[in-house]
Amino acid sequence: FAPWKDPDANPLIRFENVTKRFGDFTAVNNLNLTIYEREFFALLGASGCGKTTLLRMLAGFETPTEGFIVLDGQRINDVPPNKRAVNMMFQSYALFPHLSVWDNIAFGLRRTKMEKDAIGDRVQEMLRLTQLDTFARRKPHQLSGGQRQRVALARSLAKAPKLLLLDEPLAALDKKLRQETQFELMDIQEKTGTTFVIVTHDQEEAMTVASRVAVMNKGDVLQVATPGEIYEAPKSVYVADFIGEVNIIDGTVKITGPEEIAIQYSETSPPIQATVDTEGFSDGQKVSYAIRPEKIGVSLNKDDPRPNKVKGTVVDIAYLGSTSTYHVRLDCGQMVSAQMTNVRRIEHREITWEDTVWLSWSKTAGLVLVK
Ligand code: ATP
Repeated sequence: FAPWKDPDANPLIRFENVTKRFGDFTAVNNLNLTIYEREFFALLGASGCGKTTLLRMLAGFETPTEGFIVLDGQRINDVPPNKRAVNMMFQSYALFPHLSVWDNIAFGLRRTKMEKDAIGDRVQEMLRLTQLDTFARRKPHQLSGGQRQRVALARSLAKAPKLLLLDEPLAALDKKLRQETQFELMDIQEKTGTTFVIVTHDQEEAMTVASRVAVMNKGDVLQVATPGEIYEAPKSVYVADFIGEVNIIDGTVKITGPEEIAIQYSETSPPIQATVDTEGFSDGQKVSYAIRPEKIGVSLNKDDPRPNKVKGTVVDIAYLGSTSTYHVRLDCGQMVSAQMTNVRRIEHREITWEDTVWLSWSKTAGLVLVK
């Protein structure tokens, strides 16, 4: 995975020690974060983690209790929403039902000093951008959910904000349409060069659209990184678990080499061998070993050359088309999920319920997370 880098990008937003409290309750806790120009940035987290509060502070609907929000080099804590070069697209789209698509898009522009012709050009440009050219005369109720979503997007971008905030913009769409719309959003974001900050609780959505993702939990930002980095190198069990499937195995460290440790997790199974920078570890230390299911091979025999090898019994198989996930109980009782592509499954003999299997993985396949 490559770290996110746009050599020309300047910082657009800075949160400087931002805390937001509602009474005694801390919704956002001492946040420091920079978002760059032209980024598609996702705030990801479970319900109630504070992501909407963060977005509302950017929009100007909430004021930080402590700290500063800087937009384009200027502190904006006290700048009212309509004086910020920021627009927000709501989940409900909030279109005017009695106005046509054209008038919905033109609405905000007509309240500026912009000339009539220039407004017409701009609306036309927005219609083209969102592929709504043929729908200009329709009213919102004559549109599909996906088209309404595009009108809302066109309207939010009409005044060319520096920053567009999107609060669960695709939540009302069904899964297939949502996936298509994610690609449209990415395309539109790239064409306009506007910085997008999207709030979502859908990790796949965040991973698909975003240049970088901030994973939040209970008011804290746990990690900010590219989707690849978040998936491959989560810094905590929470992040590993929140993004995709992961096996978490708790155990105790024994340093076995200059760059190698063993993790004992049961009295009967062999310890896990892991390549790590041993500097941060000591004998007897409690750790969590995190390994993705697709890093673990399943075989009916013991011939896989990878050094971590452990015997178990298949208790469940989830067939997912291109892949299958095997739920395997190790002899010590620990459950482990392993995922394999079904191309390989066909090449090998079919594995089925109750089979005794060997799980194997390399020393670098998992991450050792300090508890
Ligand atoms: P969701 O995905 O459910 O929208 P969220 O991560 O966006 O969740 P926020 O809406 O930011 O969460 O809320 C964070 C916490 O702050 C919640 O526990 C919420 O109850 C609380 N909160 C938000 N706004 C207020 C308010 N105006 N007064 C009191 N508490 C609030």
